[in-house]
Amino acid sequence: MISSQNTTAYIGLGANLGNTEATLHHAVDQIRSLPGIEQLQLSPLYRTAPIDSSGPDYLNAVARIQTSLTAHQLLSALQNIELAHGRLRPYRNAPRTLDLDVLLFGTEHIHDAILTVPHPRMHERAFVLRPLYDLAPDLSLEQGVLQMLLQQCSDQAIHRVP
Ligand code: ADP
Ligand code: MG
Repeated sequence: MISSQNTTAYIGLGANLGNTEATLHHAVDQIRSLPGIEQLQLSPLYRTAPIDSSGPDYLNAVARIQTSLTAHQLLSALQNIELAHGRLRPYRNAPRTLDLDVLLFGTEHIHDAILTVPHPRMHERAFVLRPLYDLAPDLSLEQGVLQMLLQQCSDQAIHRVP
C-alpha cells in the first residue's frame, strides 16, 4: 500500500563523463535506498547528443518515485548523490559525471532560489520527454501532452540503449 502522504515525483538522470551506464545504475541504487523513497521505476536508457553543452554524448533516463520527502529534501539528497559521484561545477553546462534534476513533484509549483518545479526546460528536451513518455504516456505538462511536445523536438538525436 502506498501511503496517501506520498508524492509521485519524476527525476531526470544524465551522465556524460566516465562509465555513464555504471554511474546511472549506481545512482538509481542510491536513490532507491534513500530514506523516504518508497518505490522507484526506471525508464529505458537513452543516448543523446549534448545540448547547450560540450563533451561526449549523454546517457539519460527518468525515474518515477513515491516519496514522503519534500521537494527541497529530495533535491538536497540528489545533490549529495551527485557529489558522491565526483560532480564538479566548473562552469555552467559543463560536462558532468552525474546530473540529477527534479522534473515534477506531484502537482506542486515551486519557484525559489534553490528549486524550480516543474523543471523549466523539460518540455523542450527530448532526453527528458522520451523516457518520461515510457513511464507515463498519458502525462500532460502545462505546455501540452508528451507526444506533441516530443514531436516538437524531433530534431534532437536520441537513441534507446538496447
Ligand atoms: P542543470 O541541471 O540545469 O544543467 P545544474 O545541475 O548545475 O544545472 O543545477 C544548477 C542549480 O539548479 C542547482 O544548484 C539547483 O539549486 C538548481 N535547480 C533549480 N531547479 C532545479 C530542479 N528542478 N532540479 C534540479 N536542480 C534545480
Ligand atoms: Mg541539474
